[in-house]
Amino acid sequence: MNPAEKGVTMMNDLHLSKSLFIRGLQCHKSLYLQKHHPELKDETPPSREALFRSGSEVGVVAQGLFPGGATIPYDPDTYDRQVALTQEEIAQGASTLYEAAFHFDNVFVKVDILNKGKNGWDIYEVKSSTSIKDVYIPDAAVQYYVVKGSGLPVSRIFLVHINNQYVREGGIDVRQLFTVNDVTSEVRQMQDTVEGELDAQKTMLRGDIPRIDIGPYCSDPYECDFVGHCWEHIPDESVFDIRGSKSLPFTLYNRGIVRLEEVPLYMLTPNQRLQVEAALERKVVISSEAVREFLDSLWYPLYFLDFETVGAAVPLFDGTRPYQQVPFQYSLHYLEDEDAGLLHHEYLADPKIDPREELIKKLASEIPQNACILAYYAGFEAGVLRGLAEWLPKYRDDIDVMLGNLRDLAVPFQKKDVYHWQFSGSYSLKYVLPALVPDLRYEDMEVRDGDMAMQAYFRMRGSGDPEEIGRLRSALLAYCRLDTLGMVRIIERLKEMTK
Ligand code: SF4
Repeated sequence: MNPAEKGVTMMNDLHLSKSLFIRGLQCHKSLYLQKHHPELKDETPPSREALFRSGSEVGVVAQGLFPGGATIPYDPDTYDRQVALTQEEIAQGASTLYEAAFHFDNVFVKVDILNKGKNGWDIYEVKSSTSIKDVYIPDAAVQYYVVKGSGLPVSRIFLVHINNQYVREGGIDVRQLFTVNDVTSEVRQMQDTVEGELDAQKTMLRGDIPRIDIGPYCSDPYECDFVGHCWEHIPDESVFDIRGSKSLPFTLYNRGIVRLEEVPLYMLTPNQRLQVEAALERKVVISSEAVREFLDSLWYPLYFLDFETVGAAVPLFDGTRPYQQVPFQYSLHYLEDEDAGLLHHEYLADPKIDPREELIKKLASEIPQNACILAYYAGFEAGVLRGLAEWLPKYRDDIDVMLGNLRDLAVPFQKKDVYHWQFSGSYSLKYVLPALVPDLRYEDMEVRDGDMAMQAYFRMRGSGDPEEIGRLRSALLAYCRLDTLGMVRIIERLKEMTK
């Protein structure tokens, strides 16, 4: 539950907040369940919690656009107090407020930055995305509706988002990091809609649970957290597993088709048909010749490379842009020749340093210039290497050789030269590995995917506890090692399958 929602659930059943309003705009049932049955909610995944945290951090950095303001602290038990404090600050002549609180028409909002301009107060809503999304306009519109309705003369309202062209050089230049967009006219045009929707939401909350079936709005614009409850009737294998079309699963569902065996095959593309038929018959489809051709294109020494990277809205290192992926770890398994034993190198940066030079220096010393380098989704590894070459040109020659020797293990899966029914239409390593090498599993690991690796790295950066840092280091090393070991085992498996 995010802070604004939490505060409001303490109030009466008809009270709303900005986030509750946006929830209701996406689906009335979601708002109803949040207010009346929060116990039915899914567990918040760590990635969503990380997103909330990153949003709050960006909000704090954006306060630097108008330094010296007064903060109205958030506290779920002092909802009225926050509104009163805001009024006190304004009455005492404050010209900039952070997290100012307002209440009007049974709606409570917190404004990221409120600044007194020449013609009245200006509202700044801060987003950690790199562009304006459609949903931000109603989000800003309800802020404007409440602040203005509470009696404050509002002049303009702005959406502030991350400028992805900004390159960090030394300290953060907040004016360059953010792009500020005046959305006053769009927001004013929406005022009647906001009022009408608020009335509709309050009326709905007084009644019985809305009879709303699942729909595309369950994940658009946000992933709803009542999916576990509302989607209970969908079987494990269903039309919602079919890849390659956003609209097809609901087209089928709305015709009463839920199970894969009910799907009319003529409605499917060749890849979707392969997915459905393979799932129904539990089969593996392989084009041995194409897979052999791929295997023959590799050579020894053969190196299996995987990076773990970090990217943040506020760039961590000089020369990087917002969200640019900077490597802090790699795993490198290798085979000198076909009959040689498997060897391994790895690197994981001290979280307090800029890892780039240490990492590329070690990597360049460990991969011979004649090695074939295999990565899964090699385009990602190539992008990371290019970023390193740009920042550290003295390694450009070494990196160019690596780029020339880089091959992509995802290719045979992407081309469907080999397809296992358990891939579920995907060619991500997270599907391919457990299907082909079932004894290697991520499930019991503390770090199980790239997002979790990034969060573990952030936790290590912020931790002063050597025991915690040690535990996170071990978890990161084990995860990255499994990714490259997985690639080794996939190659072995492909060889067996094409024998
Ligand atoms: S899962 Fe879908 S139908 Fe259920 S509350 Fe959420 S958006 Fe509404």
